[in-house]
Amino acid sequence: MPDLSPVSASSAAVGSGFVGQGESGRRVGGAAAHGPPGRPADVVIPAAAAGRTKQSPEPSAPRICLDHLASTPCDPEAAALVQRLAVEAWANPSSPHRAGRLAARHVERAREQVAAAIDALPEEIVFTSGATEANNLAILGVAAAVEREALGRAPGDGRRRLLTLGIEHPSVLAPIAELARRGFDVEHVTLQPDGRVDLDALADRLEGALLLSIQAANNEIGTLQPLAEASRMAAEHGVLVHGDAAQILGKLPFSVEELDLDFASLSAHKCYGPKGIGALWIRGGARRAPIAPITFGGSHESGLRPGTPNAPAIAGFGLAVELASERMERDAKRLGVLRDRLEQELAARLGDRVRLNGALGHRLPHATSLTFFDPDGRPLDADALVANLPEFDLSTASACHAGTPEPSHVLRAIGMAREEAYATLRVGLGRGVERAEVDRAAERIVGSPPLRHSSSRHAKPRAGGDPAELWRADHHHTRTETQVLDGTHE
Ligand code: PMP
Repeated sequence: MPDLSPVSASSAAVGSGFVGQGESGRRVGGAAAHGPPGRPADVVIPAAAAGRTKQSPEPSAPRICLDHLASTPCDPEAAALVQRLAVEAWANPSSPHRAGRLAARHVERAREQVAAAIDALPEEIVFTSGATEANNLAILGVAAAVEREALGRAPGDGRRRLLTLGIEHPSVLAPIAELARRGFDVEHVTLQPDGRVDLDALADRLEGALLLSIQAANNEIGTLQPLAEASRMAAEHGVLVHGDAAQILGKLPFSVEELDLDFASLSAHKCYGPKGIGALWIRGGARRAPIAPITFGGSHESGLRPGTPNAPAIAGFGLAVELASERMERDAKRLGVLRDRLEQELAARLGDRVRLNGALGHRLPHATSLTFFDPDGRPLDADALVANLPEFDLSTASACHAGTPEPSHVLRAIGMAREEAYATLRVGLGRGVERAEVDRAAERIVGSPPLRHSSSRHAKPRAGGDPAELWRADHHHTRTETQVLDGTHE
């Protein structure tokens, strides 16, 4: 029998990755020397605005990551397993020989672990490169099945209407937009201001729809959708339901059995597993479901995902999700307490100059979305705020927005004005974050120059236009440039 037992944490050679290096901005020593006149001397400007054009070689202090909605560090035990199997179980899991069978056993063990975490059957799990691919496979795969006229369910035949939410991840919205170009009808169901779907509006739209794609939890505001109600309503109308579960896996209970979904997308790196691996869960398995392949080649993964499976990464995913499930309750409670502490501290010190976004009673416990206002009550520039918090890795929008100057589509979809979206920070706490660090974050945010000074004092003295507007516009340009250059966002 091959040894499938994970390497223990103490023997793991791979670091926790909870802290990293890097610097997103530099402190301006004096307004006269470096900054435009009028800017307070203690304001840090984003690096590109300060004239830096490539990543700083200067060493910096360890930073505290408050951006665990973008990704999580690989659990040391899972990382050690991946590393070990890269050497020991490198063979193609489809190969019939002994080495291939060893790799295949690791894949099948992980299939059981992932299935167990979501109350599914192992044969219902199709490994993919992550939730992006799983979302594409579910959405484009159902459409491909329709186009082949192979949709097995009688009420689904001939249907070409797709329903989704405006706050979905781009890996849901983009394939759906592609299907709109190919002649499918697409509707974004009305949202409540807290980001939860309006169930009455959904009820009105379900008749004759083919597929509802609805996320379990949002990656910017943490809002949880009423998946059980939505899927029950959809089932009454014969509508297939796909749930993007990337953010909820390993964080809160997620049972496909209880939720009565048809498809669910999973990602390893959001739950302390390796990057570049995930899965699509398909009710009843690929051979029985109304889904057709969208990539072609070998017959791996029930014919739905050709390509040699990455056995070491798959095994790391399996172990990470098992470990996350075991500690889920403890982690959720601890991080929920810390998140509430951060919010309460900020609210106590800033009053109405900080606003919480999302569904406060229906949120991921480790997530918060905060909009900040300067002493004059104007939405401030959250990128300037981040640049002035050099100890912390934080982000103002989802990582997938890096490179675009547009405000977050999630915040816009819940009705937030552009300026307020630009004034919004998302915080994702994680396993390595301690209470003292949360307290320090609150302290630093409250004391940061953008919160202490009016935005108009930050403004560059240019002719024409609202100076505060110019300052903000400048930062949105430089923020994205900095992120792309630093490679800090996937
Ligand atoms: N869906 C959601 C809700 C996400 O947060 C992410 C990651 N940002 C994805 C899908 C894509 O996951 P992956 O990085 O595994 O492709």
